[in-house]
Amino acid sequence: MTALLNFRSTPLPTADYARGCYIYDTQGKSYLDGSGGAMTVSLGHAVPEVIEAIQAQSERLCFSYRTQFANTPALELAEELVSLAPVGISHAFFVNSGSEASELAIRSSIQYWREREQPDKTLILGRDISYHGMTMGALSLSGHTARRGDYANLLHPLAVGPSLSRVAEGPEATDVEADRRAWSQAIESIGAEKVAALIIEPIVGAAGGALTPPSGYMRMLREVCDVYGILFIADEVITGMGRTGRWFACDHDGVTPDVITVAKGLTSGYTPLGAVLYSDTLVEAMSKGSRSAPFGHTFSGNPLSAATALAVVRYLKSHDVLDNVSARGNQLREGLQQIQARHPGLMGNVRGRGLLLGFDLFDPVRGGTPTPSLNANTVFADTCQAEGLIIYPAGIAPANNAAIISPPLTIGDADIAVLLQRLDASLQRFSLLFSPT
Ligand code: PMP
Repeated sequence: MTALLNFRSTPLPTADYARGCYIYDTQGKSYLDGSGGAMTVSLGHAVPEVIEAIQAQSERLCFSYRTQFANTPALELAEELVSLAPVGISHAFFVNSGSEASELAIRSSIQYWREREQPDKTLILGRDISYHGMTMGALSLSGHTARRGDYANLLHPLAVGPSLSRVAEGPEATDVEADRRAWSQAIESIGAEKVAALIIEPIVGAAGGALTPPSGYMRMLREVCDVYGILFIADEVITGMGRTGRWFACDHDGVTPDVITVAKGLTSGYTPLGAVLYSDTLVEAMSKGSRSAPFGHTFSGNPLSAATALAVVRYLKSHDVLDNVSARGNQLREGLQQIQARHPGLMGNVRGRGLLLGFDLFDPVRGGTPTPSLNANTVFADTCQAEGLIIYPAGIAPANNAAIISPPLTIGDADIAVLLQRLDASLQRFSLLFSPT
C-alpha cells in the first residue's frame, strides 16, 4: 500500500516480535496494536494455545494437495464454521486471502445462474464506497478510487447502489427505506436479468472507516435481493469471526446471505487463510451442474492454516471472547467519546460496532473535512505510530480523513487505558502539525 518512492524515503520500522496487544520493533520501541494490524489480529499476539496448535500440526502434516487428499483440520474447520454461521450456510471452501474469497464469490455467483439457465446474469452490484480486495476481479467490485488508481480503465465497470452516509451523525443519518428504493432503482436501471449478485461489507472498512448502517439494513438488502432474484454476498472479511460481538455481522439482523466471505480474523493473522461460506441453495445448484470451470489454488485448504484457524475459533469459544467484545467495545467507545469531547475540532463522532470503531478527523486549523491533499488519514496514522499506537487510516478522497480503532478482541482494562492515552497524545501532536507558525 506504500508507493515505492515514499517507502524508500521513509522506511517503515522493522517489526521484531509481538506479545499480547503489543508489537516491538528492532529498536526496542513498543507499539500498542490498536487496529490489530489491518483489523486482523483478534486474539492478540503469541497466544500459547495457537502456537502449540501450529507446532503440533506442523509436526503432523504441513501440506497435502486439495485434489489428492482431504485433510483433517480443513474438514473440522469447515464443520466448525458452518455450525457458527447463520442458519442455511452449509459449506465452506478455503482460499488464502480476502481477495481470493471475493474472486470465488464472483465466480460462484455467475456459475450459479449458469446452472439455473440464466447465463446473462453476470454483473455484481456493489457500493461506491467499498473495498473487496486488490486482485483484478475483487478490485472491479471495489468502490475505492485510490486503490483502483491507474487500473480503473482495465477493470470491469463498477455497478453501484447508494453509499452509506458518512456524516458525523452516525447510522441514524441513513434512511433504510430511502436506500431500499435507491438499491431497487439501481437494479432496475441495469435490469435484474443481468445482475448475478449484490456484494456488501456490513460495516464499510478501509474505504469509509467503520461506516455503520442502522440495524435492519442487512435485512433490507436481503429482501431487495429476494424481490429481484439476485444473490446476496456479505463480505465479512473484516466483520466476521467475532469482531462486532457476534460471529458474523449479519447475525445482528438475523439474516442469512447466500455467500459469506471471511479472512483476516479467521486465523487472527497467525497464518494466511480465507474462506467462502455457501448457503444450501448455491451448493445444490452448483453441484448438479456440469458447467463449472475448476477453481482453487495450490494452497487452498492448507492444513497448517486450517489448524491455526481451528485453534483461534476454539480459543474464542472457550474464553467467551465475544462477550468481551461487547463489553470492551462499549468501554472503548465511551473512552473515545470522552477524547472527542476534549477535541471536538479535531475528531468527529465515534461510530462502529463491537471492537470495530471509527471516526473522522477534522482540519485542525480551518475545521471541517480536511483538504484531500493533506492526506489526514495517513498523516494521523503516522503520528499515532510515532506515539506508539497503531491505528488504521481509512476513507477515500474527498473524505480520506477517517481512522479505524480495532484492537485485539481480547483487550483488557490496562491496554484500553494505554490505547486511549496514546490516542489523546497523538491528537494533540496532530493538531500541532497543522498549527500556523
Ligand atoms: N474485503 C474486505 C472488506 C477487506 O477489508 C479486505 C482487506 N482489507 C479484503 C476484502 C481483501 O483481503 P486481503 O487483503 O486478505 O486480500
